[in-house]
Amino acid sequence: MKISELFKEKTVLSFEIFPPKPTTDESVIYETLNGLTGLHPDFISVTYGAGGGKNGSKTIQIASAVKNRYGIESVAHLPCIGITKKQAVQILDSLKGNGIENILALRGDISPDTVPAGDFSHANELIEFIRERYDFNIIAACYPEVHSESKNIVEDINYLKQKVYCGVSHLITQLFLDNDYFYAFRERTAIAGINVPIEAGIMPVTNKVQIERMVKLCGIHLPNKFMKMIERYENNPEALRDAGIAYAIDQIVDLISQGVDGIHLYTMNNPYVAKRIYKAVHSLLAVQHC
Ligand code: FAD
Repeated sequence: MKISELFKEKTVLSFEIFPPKPTTDESVIYETLNGLTGLHPDFISVTYGAGGGKNGSKTIQIASAVKNRYGIESVAHLPCIGITKKQAVQILDSLKGNGIENILALRGDISPDTVPAGDFSHANELIEFIRERYDFNIIAACYPEVHSESKNIVEDINYLKQKVYCGVSHLITQLFLDNDYFYAFRERTAIAGINVPIEAGIMPVTNKVQIERMVKLCGIHLPNKFMKMIERYENNPEALRDAGIAYAIDQIVDLISQGVDGIHLYTMNNPYVAKRIYKAVHSLLAVQHC
């Protein structure tokens, strides 16, 4: 099923998972998926390391299992910076062969592990490439607090608009901890004429390492309310986990009340956390606007 259809009916809830590291036993991902059994996300997306390699085949394998073994619609992430057009065709053919219909088309982060292959520079080029050759439903990423490489928000929104016009059916945001950034971004995209659904990316922050990593990678704003929470509970892992879950639930309740198109939960492969959040919010998703 092409997941763009879902937004016509309800507030969408999706989960994101990532393949295990090459050094980790592959079966752990199935423990994660078994742990998510009983929850009913509208889809599960599976990340893909921009460096490609073995991690890429794992993404295909896991996205296929999500759909064909667990009966949940899946989305395969595909970053293009590290792959050639020939490799893109191989991956896309394999995704198609496994019955996967939805792709999150990305550029990928530029890092020491990612050698640009030279065929794609930006996500819009991959989107066009897919659109010209395949019938996938294509999703793209967006940044309520502006992408870290953008000169300014105007440039970022203009490139986003170009990306959407290449054939994107919906957008998923980078994580944010202050909903006001999301609302301002939603307004700007509407003014720019970007009218596809936007799912809000929510990451429950449940440990200190995660916070440090998040700031380094995404450079997102850490609200005072959030920092106070961390300061108070940083030396008590259980309390910090519970506070992080409560914080994410609070964000989600506010977003749903304000008519968000969907919530994309970065599960960090943690079924316990996903379960607690799901239980707290799933009844809100079915309530239609008057
Ligand atoms: P682009 O849309 O190409 O944008 C990158 C930058 O270039 C922006 O500053 C933009 O304004 C600018 N730009 C865009 N188009 C052009 C153009 N035509 N000319 C000049 N400048 C342009 N990374 C992974 O490696 N694997 C994953 O699985 C993964 N999953 C993600 C899931 C989500 C929901 C999100 C939000 C991000 C994910 N990422 C993933 C991270 C992502 O790859 C990085 O944020 C990356 O730096 C940008 O990717 P993009 O697709 O948004 O790039």
